[in-house]
Amino acid sequence: MLSDRRHDIAEMELDELEQTLDALGKARFHGRQLFQWIHKRGIVDFDEMTDLGRDLRSTLATQFQVGTPIVVRKERSSDGTTKFLLRLEDGQLIESVFIPDTPSNTFCISSQVGCAMNCGFCLTGRMGIVRNLTAGEIAGQVRVLARELGMLQSRFNIVLMGMGEPLHNYDAVMKALRILADEHGLAIHPRRITLSTVGVLPALERLATEPLMPNLAISLHATTEEQRNALVPINRKYGIRELLDACRRFPIQRRDRITFEYVMLKGVNDTDEDARRLVRLLHGIRAKVNLLPLNEAAGIPYERPDDARVNRFAKILAERGVTVSVRKSRGRDIRAACGQLITESARQKTPGQILAGLMPA
Ligand code: SAH
Repeated sequence: MLSDRRHDIAEMELDELEQTLDALGKARFHGRQLFQWIHKRGIVDFDEMTDLGRDLRSTLATQFQVGTPIVVRKERSSDGTTKFLLRLEDGQLIESVFIPDTPSNTFCISSQVGCAMNCGFCLTGRMGIVRNLTAGEIAGQVRVLARELGMLQSRFNIVLMGMGEPLHNYDAVMKALRILADEHGLAIHPRRITLSTVGVLPALERLATEPLMPNLAISLHATTEEQRNALVPINRKYGIRELLDACRRFPIQRRDRITFEYVMLKGVNDTDEDARRLVRLLHGIRAKVNLLPLNEAAGIPYERPDDARVNRFAKILAERGVTVSVRKSRGRDIRAACGQLITESARQKTPGQILAGLMPA
């Protein structure tokens, strides 16, 4: 596929847009108009930006494009969860998910094509990393989903829990958060955004210094270094102890907590002992735990514990004063659930792999 050589204007923050107009010899205030058309109203064609003069519109169109992921496929689950397959400028595919009423509406978006973290129970990890998304592509998923769903004016939350490890694509993710937060665009306050990470430590330390701070979720998944080394390979570099120390130092706002995600794997990390260890590990951290009973898939060598086990684990945490919830798995019938995002192109690249069994009918 030939890619468009014009610069992507949807990739620019408002001040960059204003500087661009300056450089074109045009008035800076057009920057704000452009930003509104693109990010608030979801318009991608300069011709539709009717309050910009014809001259300006044609100048813009020769040099710029409004880079926008294209919806290739939409799959709606019986529970209303809708998975979008999106095609990027260079033909790469990513997935984003709309999850209704959880109790708020939530968009689950991707930060990379594939993922380099290779966690043992996650399908996206099987793709490997193809490339980082740009800030425009990250924020663009929100714009496209909101437009498709008629929700540009609605309130919703965003979770960076789609494909990819957001702290492995730090600059683009933070820039996307600034674009999403801008009052002239969708104006999504960072408190309505949750960034989920395996804990890329240097990036986590950097996040702690950002003026614009999303909510933080840590994919912990284990209670001993040995266990986590096996499940989440980056733990061999940044271990549980260091990670939790960084969490203790993390400047969370009053009344806020860090969410710890814990994928439950039958017979691996789901014992009473694990639950008690988890309580001890989280001591001194304003934490809440979100248990994610494994979403099973062909090629994932783990099983989901039964409900009684999950409840018993949750009870041990709760009795010891840890706030705990069990994530209800949404969209499993369309493979939109946690850790199940993997795109067709990647599957075609790795024929013969166990993943062949996952092809949708
Ligand atoms: N890379 C980031 C963002 C992905 S979030 C992170 O790991 O935090 C996706 C969440 O779903 C993570 O907590 C991930 O560990 C979890 N997950 C992955 N595979 C899963 C599976 N098969 N079942 C349940 N949860 C899974």
